[in-house]
Amino acid sequence: MNLPAPYQERLLRDEPLGRYTAARLGGAADGVYIARESAVELALVMQAAWSQGVPVRVLGGGANVLISDAGFRGLVVINDVTDIHFGDWHERRNVAAAAGVGLTVLARKCQSRGLSGLEWATSVPGTVGGAVVNNAGAHGSDIAANLIEAVVLDEQRGAVILSRDELAYGYRTSALKSRSDRRFVVLLAQFALTADDPAAILARMESFIAHRKRTQPPGASLGSIFKNPPGDYAGRLIEQAGLKGYRIGGAEISTVHANFFINTGGATARDYLALIRHAQARVQALYGVELELEVELVGDW
Ligand SMILES: Cc1cc2nc3c(=O)[nH]c(=O)nc-3n(C[C@H](O)[C@H](O)[C@H](O)COP(=O)(O)OP(=O)(O)OC[C@H]3O[C@@H](n4cnc5c(N)ncnc54)[C@H](O)[C@@H]3O)c2cc1C
Repeated sequence: MNLPAPYQERLLRDEPLGRYTAARLGGAADGVYIARESAVELALVMQAAWSQGVPVRVLGGGANVLISDAGFRGLVVINDVTDIHFGDWHERRNVAAAAGVGLTVLARKCQSRGLSGLEWATSVPGTVGGAVVNNAGAHGSDIAANLIEAVVLDEQRGAVILSRDELAYGYRTSALKSRSDRRFVVLLAQFALTADDPAAILARMESFIAHRKRTQPPGASLGSIFKNPPGDYAGRLIEQAGLKGYRIGGAEISTVHANFFINTGGATARDYLALIRHAQARVQALYGVELELEVELVGDW
């Protein structure tokens, strides 16, 4: 694969992907490019891959993907473009964030300017881009609650501005997430916020952080593995099935929160997936509930 001249020399070949994911799992990609400069750089690299027919996958924080031990045949683009602009548009207090901005960083910058709305995102790993695709959320809110629009580069349509309605958000899903071709990249998202006392915003963020520390385990994981089934909690069902602490190889169902699966150090992606399938099978057999994956499987399985 050939990238435009200034970028080609920064292409990493046969690069292990584990270091770019929160679970620290995954084999190598044929190529990895880390976009750090601008949305233009990101767009040019994506377009180069598309025009050459190279399979390409964008990752933000890798906090919601389980990458196979076989890795990814093609190009993985790590989005580390992190511009943030504050301003008043559409008669609202707004922030426009490049898709590579970390959710926690964005929440903190908004707090320090007395802008409320993204408190829930503090301590949620990953980037704005991943959150826009997944409709990440916590503490009763989600990215859809404040999003006005996202700028998306689409292989077929070029750069398009998609409104919140067009993104068709649902619980941890969106019109982008359900696209199997993945031939798009989120470049930027704009959020409407409301003015509030920075100290009050900080207090809410701190209570969310404290709640997370009380209820969620440390260690390499992907957060919640399964979506909560309607009216219930995936973690409750897995715990009731007696699976807390259950291990396959180096992958373990957390003893703190049964919807978190920990890479205890020596896990492979295969161990991790076997643990996922085991939990799904036990919960289905015992309670007749089909647990749907929240995390995404990427690569050759
Ligand atoms: C400890 C822990 C706690 C977590 N807690 C929560 C929580 O409370 N709530 C919650 O919702 N999630 C949670 N998660 C999951 C994760 O934080 C979210 O899903 C987050 O939105 C993932 O963002 P990311 O940048 O890491 O996405 P990635 O994992 O890098 O990518 C996810 C998907 O988005 C696509 N993507 C990423 N960036 C772009 C882009 N710019 N353009 C196009 N496609 C893109 C990828 O190709 C992939 O399909 C947690 C994860 C961990 C590890």
